[in-house]
Amino acid sequence: MVLKNLKMTLKRSVTGVEVTRLYPEKIMDLPDAERGVHVLDIRKCIGCGACARICPNDCIKLVAYARGNPVKNKKLQYPQIDYGRCMFCGLCVDECPASCLTMSKVFEIAGWNREDIVYDPVDIAVGAYNDQELADLAEEARKAEEEKKRKAAEAAKAKKEKAAKAAGEGEKGSGEKAAKKKAE
Ligand code: SF4
Ligand code: SF4
Repeated sequence: MVLKNLKMTLKRSVTGVEVTRLYPEKIMDLPDAERGVHVLDIRKCIGCGACARICPNDCIKLVAYARGNPVKNKKLQYPQIDYGRCMFCGLCVDECPASCLTMSKVFEIAGWNREDIVYDPVDIAVGAYNDQELADLAEEARKAEEEKKRKAAEAAKAKKEKAAKAAGEGEKGSGEKAAKKKAE
């Protein structure tokens, strides 16, 4: 076996076929399906937490990040990923209902301590809003909330009126019945 491997190495060194690479100077071309560090489209994330729930290694936690969309994600909660636990299975990506989580080809994530490889939303987010956009979105969110409250109040009022009408008709019906009985 040793001789066989030696023979193969010698053959390849003579024929010029590359069997090892001088990493990190030479990095191989990674396939499109490579599963590296996540990329979060902050404009689409709704903060549902489905990625965190499906993760088999419990490495996703939702944390606050102020540069997201308060209309879509009212609590502004976004995934934080602990790469010390992640096995790059991609289940979180498959589960995301907003299709805002993908995986890049970035794989060099070494750090000096465990905290270095816990990535906050700011580390994986793309499309973060600027101050003006955030102000516009906050205004939009406020208006949407007001509209929701107005509709809820209207619905409650209509329900109350309907119930009062039904009660009135009930009383009228029983009064008529009593009068009829008395006449008999
Ligand atoms: S790739 Fe897998 S292990 Fe990593 S965060 Fe997503 S679900 Fe969890
Ligand atoms: S990344 Fe997707 S699954 Fe995770 S919280 Fe955002 S919308 Fe939900």
